[in-house]
Formats: sequence, C-alpha cells, structure tokens
Amino acid sequence: MRETLRQIPIGEDERLDLENLATGAFHPLRGFMTREEALSVAYEMRLPTGEVWTLPILLQLRERPRVGKGDQVALTYGGEAVAVLQVEDAYELDLRDLARQVFGTESEAHPGVRRFYAKGTYALGGRVEVLRWRPRGALEKTPEEVRALFRQRGWRRVVAFQTRNAPHRAHEYLIRLGLELADGVLVHPILGAKKEDDFPTEVIVKAYRALIEGFLPQDRVALLGLATPMRYAGPREAVFHALVRKNFGATHFLVGRDHAGVGEFYDPYAAHRIFDALPPLGIEIVKVGAVFHCALCGGIASERTCPPHHQGGRTSISMTKVRSLLREGKAPPPELVRPELIPLLLEGA
Ligand SMILES: [Zn+2]
Repeated sequence: MRETLRQIPIGEDERLDLENLATGAFHPLRGFMTREEALSVAYEMRLPTGEVWTLPILLQLRERPRVGKGDQVALTYGGEAVAVLQVEDAYELDLRDLARQVFGTESEAHPGVRRFYAKGTYALGGRVEVLRWRPRGALEKTPEEVRALFRQRGWRRVVAFQTRNAPHRAHEYLIRLGLELADGVLVHPILGAKKEDDFPTEVIVKAYRALIEGFLPQDRVALLGLATPMRYAGPREAVFHALVRKNFGATHFLVGRDHAGVGEFYDPYAAHRIFDALPPLGIEIVKVGAVFHCALCGGIASERTCPPHHQGGRTSISMTKVRSLLREGKAPPPELVRPELIPLLLEGA
C-alpha cells in the first residue's frame, strides 16, 4: 500500500524535526504546521489553540506539491521512505512576511533567513508517522527517556543549558550557576545544522565532555543533545528552546545575553524581554546578563556582580574571539577558555 503513495523527498532538517514531532520534543505540536498554524505562530506567538509557540515548524518545498487535504504522502530521505504525512493543508508561503515576523528581518545576510528562503515557497502541513527512525547517536534520547533519567537520579529541579558552541569560560560559569540552583544541569547542545563559522558538533561534544569529566561534578551534569537545526531567530528561538527543554523535563532554563542571536540582528536583551510579554510557560526562565572576565573582580563576573569596572577590568569572552586566535596560531588566554580544551578546539578551528 505504502509503495503506491506519492513520494516527497525531504532534507536533513525536516527529518530531524519530524522525529521531534513524533517523540513529543515539540509538544504540543503533532505535525508540520498548516497555514493557519504558521500564521498564528508568526503573528500571535500562539498556536490557534492558544498555547504559546514562537517558531513555525514547516515542511517547505521548492515546487508546488500536487497533493491536497486528505492525501497521504511518503516522505523520503536518501531515497528511502522515512515517514507518512497525513496532508491537512497544502499552501504557499509569503517568505518575506514570515521572515519579518519570525526573524525580525528579511535580510539574506541573516543565516537563518537565508536557509529559510532556500527551502522553498510551498509547504505541507499535517501529522506525521515515522516509518524509519534515524540511527540515534549516544547523546540522543527521547523526552520520555530524559525524564526517566532525571527521576532515576532524583533530580527534581533541573536547569537546562542550551548551547550551539564549544564551552568557553562564560558558558562554564552559567553551568556552575545552574549547579548552585538545582539538583542537576542538563547540558543540551544543538546537534542539527549550524552556521559555517560555529564549531563542528563533534568538537563541541568532545569539549563539553572534557569539561564535565575534568572540572564539574559528573553525577550532577547530564550531557545530551537536541537534534534540530539552529535558526538564529534570537528572542523567538529562546522561547522555542525553553518550551522544548520543558518537554525534556527541565524545570529551569538559562537565557544568556543575545540567546540564539547572530551578528547585530537582535538587541542583546530582546531574548530576556520576550518572556515578559508571555504568560508563564511552565518552565522558569533564569535570565543572565553579559558574563566576562574581570581582572579587578579577579575572575569571571557578570553585569550583576561586577561594580562595574569599566576601565581596564573587563575582557569580553566569545568563541569567535577564541577561534580567530586559534586560527592565527595563538593560544587563547586562560581567561577566555580552559587551556585543557585547546587541543580539542584546534581540531575544529
Ligand atoms: Zn569587575
């Protein structure tokens, strides 16, 4: 029966997200969005049912699909049918309008917008049923499995830490802050596609593993991963990241300066303010300002802990800075990144 279904090839991002829809990682979503859902999310930051949701989860196509409501189609990846989609809606997107709402810009200089445009103007919405799951990496667990792990470890308060990059000193500071606040910290790097100048996923994971094994209480930190692409949608993605971590059983979510931002596209604190405009999400948002090294404070400090020492005290910490030093053959100073991690980071520089 299924061999006779119309086949629609999908890309890696869509394959990851259809599995996230099926595992409940994107709860309350059950399928790719219909036009009504996509517009409601874009304009209201709510699903038509009223629940907060901030990013459209779309199955975009470059060509007009010759199917409609009520049809079943096979979604194929690498020539293999991996899922069945129960078509609820076949529609055309106004890409620029959606980009403006969701990313706050139409500019193709924005890596998330560029990727969104390239995926095509057409979309199919509807529920998905997975036929063939991807082989799961060691860091990939379903929300149900992660919740079971927290129960087994006796963690009632769990702080989730989202990351798309290898750990520098400011990241470590945030993880330690989480350890002060909660029973355990979920370090949850993005395993899907990222922009070219982010570190490769394998390097990020190795570096976190080394940090956790060498310098943190291993029994209170869980290193797992979230297999979804980065969108770089700043504040809206911060909300999405929080909702997804709630589904994985986290009770608290760390939102740093310019969370999920890129370049100068977002006000660094827009990702904090967006939560003030939304009802409680069922996960507590822990907002943290800029974290830096301050020579006068004598270590890593933040906007909330340094007096401020503007003159000659603060050194800002960013992976872009670390990476450019590594590429020039210079060792990044220990104020930016742990020296023990440098050999690992060199593999990805
Ligand atoms: Zn200071």
